[in-house]
Amino acid sequence: MTRLIFLGPPGAGKGTQAQILAQLLQLPHISTGDILRSAVAQQTHLGVKAQSFMDQGELVPDQLILDLVQERLSDEDVIPGWILDGFPRNVSQAIFLDELLLAINQRCDNVINLDVPDEVLVTRLLARGRKDDNEEVIRRRLAVYREQTAPLIDFYRTRQQLVSIDGNMPLDAVTEALKDVVAL
Ligand code: ADP
Repeated sequence: MTRLIFLGPPGAGKGTQAQILAQLLQLPHISTGDILRSAVAQQTHLGVKAQSFMDQGELVPDQLILDLVQERLSDEDVIPGWILDGFPRNVSQAIFLDELLLAINQRCDNVINLDVPDEVLVTRLLARGRKDDNEEVIRRRLAVYREQTAPLIDFYRTRQQLVSIDGNMPLDAVTEALKDVVAL
């Protein structure tokens, strides 16, 4: 039983590492970014509402995310554990998640913070070239991260759930460090 939250700035490698670890642990990888991108691609109600926020590098409003996460965490396949990637992304989402986990009698084991210097992040994101990976939007996403998501580092550190990992190492070395955390 493993329940993990991946925290870290855009471009830190959360998605890549969360996916690898989910595969190794045979657990669902729940990425709010992936869920939103697929909603946008299919132009669902959620996707239509989320798109402009995402294109500008802003967070999608909480009300669009919270129900979605609550529903996903009540699916059968998450009973053995889960890896959350991209959620929570601000303090109110973190408080919501706390209350939700309490209500469903689950506890998150670790919050993993992937640490990567800003200049490396910008280089990586520009190389990736997703639709929201142009320089202006990247800058905005980094600012939003600093303002709204980075405070979660202290939030979880205070509760002794935080594990920081140097995300500026080769991909395999980051995976090895993560395997140590989950005792694989
Ligand atoms: P990144 O590589 O920037 O971390 P993500 O795939 O996690 O990318 O997220 C892409 C975009 O989706 C974000 O910039 C944001 O607009 C939206 N998003 C993802 N997760 C959340 C969330 N928990 N709350 C609000 N917006 C979110």
